[in-house]
Amino acid sequence: MGWFRRKKDSAPPETVEAPPPVPETADGPPPPPEEAAAAPEPDRRGRYFSRLKERLAKTRQSFAEGVGRILSGRKKIDADVLEQIEELLITADVGVQTATELIERLTAAKPADVEAFQNALRAEILRILSRPAPPAPAAATGPRVIMVVGVNGVGKTTTIGKLAARFTREGRSVLIAAADTFRAAAVDQLAIWAERAGAGLIRHKDGSDPAAVAYDAVEAALTRKTDVVIVDTAGRLHTKVNLMEEIKKVKRSIGKRLPEGPHEVLLVLDATTGQNAVAQAQMFHQALGVTGIALTKLDGTAKGGIVVAICQAFDIPLQYIGIGESIEDLQDFDPERFVEALFSAA
Ligand code: GDP
Ligand code: MG
Repeated sequence: MGWFRRKKDSAPPETVEAPPPVPETADGPPPPPEEAAAAPEPDRRGRYFSRLKERLAKTRQSFAEGVGRILSGRKKIDADVLEQIEELLITADVGVQTATELIERLTAAKPADVEAFQNALRAEILRILSRPAPPAPAAATGPRVIMVVGVNGVGKTTTIGKLAARFTREGRSVLIAAADTFRAAAVDQLAIWAERAGAGLIRHKDGSDPAAVAYDAVEAALTRKTDVVIVDTAGRLHTKVNLMEEIKKVKRSIGKRLPEGPHEVLLVLDATTGQNAVAQAQMFHQALGVTGIALTKLDGTAKGGIVVAICQAFDIPLQYIGIGESIEDLQDFDPERFVEALFSAA
């Protein structure tokens, strides 16, 4: 059997330090986990969906209500309607090019009435969101190494905490590598999340070499037969070193200890940064070969159309969405549920 089904290592690794008392950082401590995810499957799915809907309220209000307002009282879809819908899509951060393409396809589809138009709009958005699906993880013979990258403040550390909690809940052991060594507070924040998630933490002194931290974490995971290693990285450097070069070095260093690693390079993007997120994705993908995207803070924006822009711009699967600050607020991105939530009234 592979290591994936093993329970958590019982003895805490030596390098794991007790988490410090919750510090008064600018970010504040992560909120406590909410009710345990022990409900039966249909209930859980229902809860996840209602939570998604609730958290997408800002986008839903501006988008679904906008569509409703534009179409209300109309019998036919004319150029005026199409223009207003295009504007609404652009306002929602779908991106100018994607909005234009969507409108062209809708025009070509010649919907007979308002209902047909709405269905076509939904279907077109779903089509963009549905590709490509994230690959099923291959059976691993050692620890699965996930490197998490992205600029400062997008939600890397928070996403790592949420992911680690999910893995441990599934019965997998997790080691987190604190390779954002450039800010002391970053490691403390990660320690709190690791503790909460029931994951181990590998940390070195502040300012030490991030590549060495990642290497040590992989080494420790091999020794302890840990299932998953999640590597946190810096998003901005306080030195003159080029960020991309530094992160590439972390990647190479993982590969030195585990030739097939890292298995995943997860890019975290902040939905509230709009089209800037698309530019970040280009930059990180070019340097590192991103395998998946986590889009955070969808609860904090009315411009959730950025999901469409990202899915349209890259052949990189959108794997996770962040819809809040608590440990439960990371969901697998499900195109159908997302579109459903987007278009559902209140
Ligand atoms: P990092 O610099 O990339 O590691 O970002 P952090 O994980 O420290 O997150 C920066 C801030 O964004 C923190 O205040 C988080 O609580 C917040 N954050 C992260 N993800 C989400 C999310 O999905 N929704 C909301 N509302 N806030 C988030
Ligand atoms: Mg961080």
